[in-house]
Amino acid sequence: MPFLSSTFRQTAKSAVLAACGLPSLALRALAGQGVVLTFHGLCSAGPAAGVLDRSLHLPVSVFRAVCQHLAQHYRVMPLVEMVAALRAGQALPTGAVAITFDDGLASNYHLGFPVLKSLRLPATIFLATGFLDGSHRLWFQEMDRVAQARGTAPQRLADTLSRLKTLPDLEMRAEVAAAVAAQPLPAESEVMLPMTWTQAREMQASGLVDFGGHTHTHPVLARCGAEQQAVEIRTCRDRMAEELGKMPRLFAYPNGGLDDFTAETQALLTEHGFEAAFTMMPGRWKPGAELLALPRYGNPNSVLEAQATASGAFELLRQWRGGARS
Ligand SMILES: [Zn+2]
Repeated sequence: MPFLSSTFRQTAKSAVLAACGLPSLALRALAGQGVVLTFHGLCSAGPAAGVLDRSLHLPVSVFRAVCQHLAQHYRVMPLVEMVAALRAGQALPTGAVAITFDDGLASNYHLGFPVLKSLRLPATIFLATGFLDGSHRLWFQEMDRVAQARGTAPQRLADTLSRLKTLPDLEMRAEVAAAVAAQPLPAESEVMLPMTWTQAREMQASGLVDFGGHTHTHPVLARCGAEQQAVEIRTCRDRMAEELGKMPRLFAYPNGGLDDFTAETQALLTEHGFEAAFTMMPGRWKPGAELLALPRYGNPNSVLEAQATASGAFELLRQWRGGARS
């Protein structure tokens, strides 16, 4: 399975880097830069049941081990503090790392929050507000259920999702709706469920978790017209303000590629009070980084991969390879 083999490759590469002592070298060489990790859902025992795309649901045992490693060896910071330092032109502390989750899945509360509390680690969760409201299921989870009903292979589902993300949003929604209506679907798996607003408020009250925007219905914003983009950003901001009592200042682009948002999207975010926005382009924050296109790494699948990512060992290796080529 492609997901497992790429996970295995990353962990094997990380083990080699660790054996060479590269993480401690990288930590010193790249001091002052920041790393943001992105998680989605968690599951109680791996692999996640009731979904074909298991890559979005990390076993909580792995999440706990990664967090223990980060707590012991790095400076896990609230994302807002990292953004404030960047805005002020200040270097980040050595080993600065932030933990984020996208979408607003219930497993963040049931499985992730107890780990964060036990280690006193801060995290930011980016919410698709229509998902929490119960008015809009995540369209890619709907396609996962369609694929299960049709007996589709996981790779074929991945190909379908990649194609759908390139379509104009209205066309994509029409195709998803037609696929959903074509046959009875299996019940939603527990790992697909959204957190409730009450759970979000409880996490916020702990002082450890804060929230950012991730649109209302999770479209790829660059595939939406200007008015629809504005509605997605405004509705998300306003629903969060109503339910959580404060305006969100941070935003994560759905899908997160450089082609998935536009200069118009960024202007709308500024207009609606957002101060920083995050892609899913892997990379470290350096002084002077563009606030509305900050990079984030995907979730590490092992402690070794977390070490290679957070220390900068992967980044140093990439730079050396780039240097060797030029
Ligand atoms: Zn998302």
